[in-house]
Amino acid sequence: MLALAGYPLGINFRFFDPNSGAPVGQLGELIAAPYEDEQALLRFVKDVDVVTYEFESVPLAAASFVAERVRMHPPLRSLEISQDRRREKEMFTRLGIPAAPMREVGSAADLAAAVGAVKYPAIAKTTTLGYDGKGQIALNGAADLAAAEQMLAKGPMIVEERVAFKRELSLLAVRGSSGAAAFYPLTENEHDDGILRVSRAPVNDLQLLGKAVEYAGAILTDLNHVGALALEMFERDGQLLANEIAPRVHNSGHWTIEGAATSQFENHLRAILSLPLGSTTPIGSSVMVNLLGPPPALEDVMRMEGAHVHMYGKAATERRKVGHVTFVGATMEEAMQSAGVLLAMMGERVSAA
Ligand code: AMP
Repeated sequence: MLALAGYPLGINFRFFDPNSGAPVGQLGELIAAPYEDEQALLRFVKDVDVVTYEFESVPLAAASFVAERVRMHPPLRSLEISQDRRREKEMFTRLGIPAAPMREVGSAADLAAAVGAVKYPAIAKTTTLGYDGKGQIALNGAADLAAAEQMLAKGPMIVEERVAFKRELSLLAVRGSSGAAAFYPLTENEHDDGILRVSRAPVNDLQLLGKAVEYAGAILTDLNHVGALALEMFERDGQLLANEIAPRVHNSGHWTIEGAATSQFENHLRAILSLPLGSTTPIGSSVMVNLLGPPPALEDVMRMEGAHVHMYGKAATERRKVGHVTFVGATMEEAMQSAGVLLAMMGERVSAA
């Protein structure tokens, strides 16, 4: 999606992905090799102006090998912090950004102490490589500790309070190389089993937006970040609690392709190429629905009024994100009308906008 936004601006791309069947191979030169293959990384960076990443689990060794040879935005530090939930939480605390109480857990004894401090219901998360609800275990009582201990055998974790949130919100921000930042409106996100299903924007709450901009702005400055960054949050009792950051374009910002004056993808490219940032103003109200494998028939989706369909060309394995559909309306009710039909078709609960 970055490349699709960049070609109209005259930008050329080369891609790196360990998977030789990666869909991006349809769009341009793909170097498919393990992240440890330095010769392949050298071929990748040869004669390019700037390197970026849109996946935060790129191994740090590969990313720093690249960053030593060519300009890389966002910086290594953004990747480093976002790869480890402990470092992320430490940053929130240092910047005075509220987050759910948590404890670090490295042993079975730590686990007992952490649950004692955080209390049930809690949630155990691996410190690294967790995404889309993977590497998470709900802790509702002592019966769940065995599963958490099993996960602990694979590496350290954190245990944090399960937040009884009113809703989940994210703020997509983009910072240019001059340090100037722009912010999209707040987006409301619904997850199912840790996987994002629906995003709606804009959320019109100026007080929450002010807080979110303050928090995301502090993070961008602290990281000396250049490019897009998403801050995921919980809203509880009118307050925001930070959950995590993604130092990249984000699924909850996909609606900006049709729903904002400049998409997150174009703005990320503008930022990393030191070009002026584009307007982040929304065009009406947007609802984005993720298609998880196996998706509904394409013709059925295309028949829906105003459906903007994006298929990623990925194998449709069970519950994998294989595409998304965005509906833009003059009002949220209008956008939700068609989105509701799609959600109902997929057997999803349709919540009120
Ligand atoms: P994460 O990988 O941290 O983004 O978690 C994925 C999803 O799990 C979140 O978007 C929430 O829906 C849920 N979740 C994660 N942490 C918590 C928490 N502390 N309290 C309640 N829900 C959570």
